[in-house]
Amino acid sequence: MCGIVGYIGKQKASTIILEGLKRLEYRGYDSAGVATQVNGGFELAKKIGRVDGLMKATRAQKLPGTTGIGHTRWATHGGVTDANAHPHISSDQKIAMIHNGVIENYVGIKKFLLTKGYTFQSETDTEVLCNLLAYHYQKEPANAEGSRFLEAVRKTLRHIEGTYGIAVMCADCPAEIVSARKGSPLILGVGDGEYMLASDVSAIISRTQNVVYLKDGEIVHLTAKNFTITTLESEDVSPVIDKVSWTIEAAEMGSYAHFMEKEIFEQPLALENTMRGRFSEDGSTAVFGGLNISAIDFRQVDRFHFIACGSAWHSCLVAEQLIERFARVPVEVDYASEFRYRNIPLSKNALFFAISQSGETIDTLAAMREAQRKGYKVLAINNVVGSTIAREADGGVYQHVGPEIGVASTKAFTSQLLVGAMLALYIGRMRDMSFSSGIEYVKALKGVPDLVRETLKLAPQIKDIANRYAHYHDFLFLGRLTLFPVALEGALKLKEISYIHAEGYPAAEMKHGPIALISEQCPSVFLVSSGEMFNKVLSSMQEIKARKGKIIAIVSANCELPEGLADEVIRIPECHEAALPIIATIPVQLLSYYITVALKLDVDKPRNLAKSVTVE
Ligand code: GLU
Repeated sequence: MCGIVGYIGKQKASTIILEGLKRLEYRGYDSAGVATQVNGGFELAKKIGRVDGLMKATRAQKLPGTTGIGHTRWATHGGVTDANAHPHISSDQKIAMIHNGVIENYVGIKKFLLTKGYTFQSETDTEVLCNLLAYHYQKEPANAEGSRFLEAVRKTLRHIEGTYGIAVMCADCPAEIVSARKGSPLILGVGDGEYMLASDVSAIISRTQNVVYLKDGEIVHLTAKNFTITTLESEDVSPVIDKVSWTIEAAEMGSYAHFMEKEIFEQPLALENTMRGRFSEDGSTAVFGGLNISAIDFRQVDRFHFIACGSAWHSCLVAEQLIERFARVPVEVDYASEFRYRNIPLSKNALFFAISQSGETIDTLAAMREAQRKGYKVLAINNVVGSTIAREADGGVYQHVGPEIGVASTKAFTSQLLVGAMLALYIGRMRDMSFSSGIEYVKALKGVPDLVRETLKLAPQIKDIANRYAHYHDFLFLGRLTLFPVALEGALKLKEISYIHAEGYPAAEMKHGPIALISEQCPSVFLVSSGEMFNKVLSSMQEIKARKGKIIAIVSANCELPEGLADEVIRIPECHEAALPIIATIPVQLLSYYITVALKLDVDKPRNLAKSVTVE
């Protein structure tokens, strides 16, 4: 959600910033803009729509200058218009600003600034912040020690309620950028004779792998030659420069048509990376390096709480079932956005897991902080290294699946399922699970990447089905036990990228309402495994068939379906219970992907959606 890029160095800033904005497109946005510093003033271009449109616009304008800032906006305050797009320039022309987040107390500040003669061109909260900075800058004594610009930023931010990641330039300070964050992601790239600011690594990775992950309450001051980091309270911070472990190729599409397609097909490798080095030498349990909690303490836990949003929340529903089944410990799963306001009674020895691919999901972050405020430990499951949730958590597990660019989560989701399955094993082996069951479980998980490879071979069949079903307007996804969350995920995938209405339900729940939707016009996707629920699911399928509903059945290899019951049968390999949700997810991903391709929609950048949701 929203992207920030800043550049200071020797190259033409606008070219580098536009390239960075292009790489941040996946985060989701509705308008884009760039400003550079030129001869004691700013050159500015901003426009609703895609970065490509902005690039065209800037070609005529040229936008010279070696210092600049750029932004992709995901509107919160004020409509999607050119005027509301960032950067914003203060009415005295002194300050240019880009901002990610929400300034909650902007109304009062705006009133105050109007009395001081400041004027506004947009409806945004950001322009208010920009003018407040101009106000403090003009008040700041010119002969003050240190940078007058930096001090003005510090003073301004002390008055702000809400969240921000900002980068600002001052007309009087050539080759300087000040940037700060609170609740919105921000990193600093340290290049060869140049610096970059960005919301995430993908924007800067083509220029440097050296990054500083900035923390909430930190302010970075960049000049062409060096940088300093201080806090809002003026304390110095010694920067830690980390090396990003992946290179630009990981963030490029290669020979695939879309990032989503690439990420679906790289799942075998991604899952191998999630598991790498995480099984005990005797092959009977999982090991995690960064939980920061002793086995003895882990064993005392009487209830696990999982908090997450979106697909990650679905992965928690699977983890809940596996942990309860294999480790016999109760698990609660909550939407992060609800958890923080529900104030649920918590047991003394509860332990939390916060799951978020980006590690920046604001609802999950807030829920995590709420649990920590109450004195509970929170472990994080994240993909993005150095993310806010990863840093603030008491410990955790990195997914190691590389950058996920497609807005609809695929490899990050299956990797979350895998981590959940590994946790069930880890906790189970501390309690009742036997050595031999552990060995069998580990073997099954190690076999997952190959089973995923095999399942991916179904792509041509699923593409053919997708082409024939793309014109329907409603779908039901139905499954039982761990295949119920997969049904939810299948429905979400389809909604997100194809805009087709879809709902996921436990198969037997269908009779309590959704069956009213069934007609020839509403196909059902059934997820069916062999085992205890098989006959029950067959009955649900019969009920649909009796009402002329079409059925696409995703079934385990050994299931025998009565002739003619399903209109389409997609056979997935037989596997262990802990592996099943992962394997069953592959066909629903492919189905939604190919339906969206058939509808000629923008797979990687669906309307209204943002990759990581950094506003509440
Ligand atoms: N609140 C600001 C606006 O609506 C920033 C939105 C964003 O994070 O992109 O312009």
